[in-house]
Amino acid sequence: MPTNPTFGKKEGAESARSGLDADALRRGVMDNLICLQGRHPAFATLQDWYMALAYTVRDRMLERWAATVEGYATRELRVACYLSAEFLIGPQLGNNLVNLGIEANTRAAMQSLGQDLDTLLAIEEEPGLGNGGLGRLAACYLDSLATLEIPAIGYGIRYEFGIFNQEIRDGWQAEVTDKWLQRGNPWEFLRPDVSFYVSFGGHTEHETDAQGRFRVRWISASQVKGVACDMPMLGYRVNTCNALRLWKSEAVESFDLQDFNAGDYYQAVQDKVASETLSKVLYPNDEPEAGKRLRLAQQYFFVSCSLQDMLRLLDRRREPVGRFAQMFAVQLNDTHPSIAIAELIRLLVDERCLPWDQAWDITRCTFAYTNHTLLPEALETWGVPLFRNLLPRLLEIIFEINRRFLDEVRQRHPGDESRIERMSLIDEAGEKKVRMAHLATVGSHAVNGVAALHSTLLRQTVLRDFAELWPERFYNVTNGVTPRRFILLSNPALAQVLDKTVGEGWVTDLTRLRKLEAHADDVTFHDEWRRVRRWNKEVLAGRIRDVTGIVVDPDALFDIQVKRIHEYKRQHLNALYIVTLYQRLRRDQEQGVVPRCFIFGGKAAPGYAMAKLMIRLITGVAEVVNNDPSMNGRLKIVFFPNFNVKNAHFVYPAADLSEQISTAGKEASGTGNMKFMMNGAITIGTLDGANVEIREEVGEDNFFLFGLSADEVERVKREGYRPEDRVECNAELREALELIAGGYFSRGDREVFRPLVETLRKSDPFFVLADYADYVACQERVSVAWQDPRRWTRMSILNAARSGKFSSDRAIREYSDRIWKISPVRIALDRP
Ligand SMILES: *Cc1c(COP(=O)(O)O)cnc(C)c1O
Repeated sequence: MPTNPTFGKKEGAESARSGLDADALRRGVMDNLICLQGRHPAFATLQDWYMALAYTVRDRMLERWAATVEGYATRELRVACYLSAEFLIGPQLGNNLVNLGIEANTRAAMQSLGQDLDTLLAIEEEPGLGNGGLGRLAACYLDSLATLEIPAIGYGIRYEFGIFNQEIRDGWQAEVTDKWLQRGNPWEFLRPDVSFYVSFGGHTEHETDAQGRFRVRWISASQVKGVACDMPMLGYRVNTCNALRLWKSEAVESFDLQDFNAGDYYQAVQDKVASETLSKVLYPNDEPEAGKRLRLAQQYFFVSCSLQDMLRLLDRRREPVGRFAQMFAVQLNDTHPSIAIAELIRLLVDERCLPWDQAWDITRCTFAYTNHTLLPEALETWGVPLFRNLLPRLLEIIFEINRRFLDEVRQRHPGDESRIERMSLIDEAGEKKVRMAHLATVGSHAVNGVAALHSTLLRQTVLRDFAELWPERFYNVTNGVTPRRFILLSNPALAQVLDKTVGEGWVTDLTRLRKLEAHADDVTFHDEWRRVRRWNKEVLAGRIRDVTGIVVDPDALFDIQVKRIHEYKRQHLNALYIVTLYQRLRRDQEQGVVPRCFIFGGKAAPGYAMAKLMIRLITGVAEVVNNDPSMNGRLKIVFFPNFNVKNAHFVYPAADLSEQISTAGKEASGTGNMKFMMNGAITIGTLDGANVEIREEVGEDNFFLFGLSADEVERVKREGYRPEDRVECNAELREALELIAGGYFSRGDREVFRPLVETLRKSDPFFVLADYADYVACQERVSVAWQDPRRWTRMSILNAARSGKFSSDRAIREYSDRIWKISPVRIALDRP
């Protein structure tokens, strides 16, 4: 049994390693500066101080981590394993201070050392190990899992280069490599002793063993070693500290010089480099599926390491493999890790010699699958030839799963060959492909969508036949976000008001914000509320000035759209409205347009030309409008570069209006919409994803709704949508499109925006022009509401008050209770 290390105390003082008062923290920082960072304080740089402080905070977490490991080791329990190709965890220092409850003491300790805490917080590089919503969801879930004291491990990939950094050059997006590890990562622990081999390529051999059993041997062409790299994930004001275990790829053997002649030496170096490429870079495509060999290799690599690790943990507890599903509940965050279903079968049948039926039962009881998209272009498939070449044994297993599954379907629906074709794990039309969503569904006991509407559509469209076959396996778990990071850490001014008004319990029970409703008409409370909002807007305005040079007025309506740039998210609809507003103002200077500041942020996938063009459109419009003296500063447009978690901290709290304007039926849930809402922004949005539930919670009077519903989009499509008709009957729309096409926002260049304007006029796959008129009308209602500050403030308070449902704590409770059947485990520290 592992024993807790002793965190000794000095006579009469708290330990420099574990003490939480300012004096112990100060001594801890000094010790770590000298002993870990190897710097004399007289020569310490800001980075040195940051590292010393990070180590000091980490020390406090390690005591809890050790207690958690021991607590889990000594109990019967079930562990939630969250498999995700992405974890967008954001900067760690601030969050860990908040969760430990030592922010004030740390500030004092650093001050006594002549250092400013905020400056140190600002220089932290964030681990950008995700693209956007999906990766950030995984990070919010880790925070809630630890806070709710649920035994859990996050499993993923330790990318050496995370999501690229975005710069704007000449109005265009430029991608810059994210070297987040360059200055070291104080939050991770490399564990060379926790490593596994992963095979690729080669062929299989079938044989009968001495006991007469059918056996398969996979003779691989190459192997890669995965080494565990752990990051502690501490809960809020609890001792639970779970691990985020990320796999780093390494060459299998460090080659020995003497074994090679000159030619082989360089080949060996090549092999080493190739192995290490596996965890080198995060694929920057958010939605559209890439179909790249290296990406499939990455997925299999991290999934195989993770499952082998679970088997190791089972063995260490001296549990038989037959109890795998009792010990682990494995959640698949989208299809990226769905190869796990075939890999667990392989490990159980080929390596642990279990019969297929038992292995299959274990597998189905273990896995649950979360679907994140209905977009056909985003559903993952892998060509069978590529799959066979890279993972021959896994393809065989998938074929066998499919054969057995289709037999079951045939028994239920004799002669229904078109159903067989639709449901097969293999798409046989054209080049054969493995359908990963089908594999994930067949191999799981639970399948869920991420918002009520999305789960309904999932059952009606993409997985319809499966929902018919196994209705009891389908669930909805609406996404949530952590109020620790997205209110307490990033909006301290609001947090203070909330503490005072509803009590501190809101941090772990967000439904308590309901108590704000009692103050929705209280004018003194309105003043307080507006002071907080004004402060946050000043902070963002300062950041905008520093980063872009654009000066914005904190009294203007801050109208914000931040998220990945994508046609379905329709940043170009927003841009069309801005052009319309600009035209109106130019025609009639006296028009009662309220001063607005339009703020955009978000990255475009490097290969997604249309998304990059949308960024160029926004910066083009910004250049013209911001510099038009006749505007008198009434309209400002900002493209805030490099939207990431760090920048998100400034953005969500400063929004008056949250733009959630995706084509209905396309956004699975959205989580940005929830972050805005809980910080008091009002949503302008379509009936899409979680917007539907946000509107339900807040009430229709406190939500600006526009646009076609998902059903209406489908009907318009069926009846033959002609975008050009919308242009013909709307003079303002025509004018806006002509201005863009005519080069007005591209320094006279009439070619640049042609693909964008032509796509809108000719096909408009995301119904931008169909929703344009209603969007403009809705924005007029927004302006009217804004001119009545009492009304606006009331709506803002009610939005925050009714955001309780969207805490990730609620979501994690639903997963734990309904899908994983896991209960919390209280962790105690071995000291008073
Ligand atoms: C929340 C978040 C997202 C997701 O935003 P959506 O509006 O839901 O698409 C993306 N990136 C970052 C950095 C986030 O914090």
